[in-house]
Amino acid sequence: MSIRKVVKYGEESLRQPSKEVHKVSQKIKNLVADLLDTMYAQNGVGLAAPQIGEHYRVFVIDTSTGNEPLNPIVFINPKIIKKSGAVISHEGCLSFPEAFTDVRRYSDVMVKAMDRNGRSFVLEAHDGSLLARAIQHEFDHLDGILFIDHVINRFEAEEVLKKCNLPDIQLDKILAEPELEEKIEVLMKEKIEKEAKAQKEKADKQEGAEG
Ligand SMILES: [Zn+2]
Repeated sequence: MSIRKVVKYGEESLRQPSKEVHKVSQKIKNLVADLLDTMYAQNGVGLAAPQIGEHYRVFVIDTSTGNEPLNPIVFINPKIIKKSGAVISHEGCLSFPEAFTDVRRYSDVMVKAMDRNGRSFVLEAHDGSLLARAIQHEFDHLDGILFIDHVINRFEAEEVLKKCNLPDIQLDKILAEPELEEKIEVLMKEKIEKEAKAQKEKADKQEGAEG
C-alpha cells in the first residue's frame, strides 16, 4: 500500500476521538497496510489511525528490534480490560518529531482486540515492557489523548517541545491520574537516588584515578 503523511502535534484532528470499526472491510485492511508501511518507514514502534488522518479505532505496534524478524501486531476496536502497576516511561511519538519526555504509565495491561482478519484476541504485557507502554500510548490516540497529557514534569516537557519547534503543552489536557501519581512519585525518588549514587561512584572513581 502506501506511506502516508503523519499528522503533527498542533493539528486539531489529533484530538478528535475515533469511531469503532463495524466490519473489517477491504478499506480497513488497506488502512492497516498503510499504518504498517508508514510506521516502518518512520522507524516507529507504533502508529494509530488518527495519526494518518483516519478516525477509526485501529492501531499497529511492532516492538521487534535490530535483526529480529518483524512482528507486527494489529489492534482493531481495542479495549484495555485490566491495568495495574506503574512505570516511568520515556516516550516520543511520530506526531512529535524528536521530542521525548517522561510520562506516567501502568506497568501491566491486558487488552482485547480484533486482528486484521476480524478475529478476536487477548494480549497481556507486563513489567513496563515496551509493548505494555506502546499499547497504552497508541490506545490513547483513539480517544484524542497524547503522551504529553501524562507528563511527569511539565516544565521539562515544555522545554523539550520548544526545542523541537512544537506548539506549547496544552495544560487543560494534562490528566489527573491519582492511582498512578503516588506510585510514580516513589519511582521518581528511587530514580533520583540511583542517579545520585551513580554520579557519586563515578566521582569517587575519578578521584581514585587522579590520586
Ligand atoms: Zn503517538
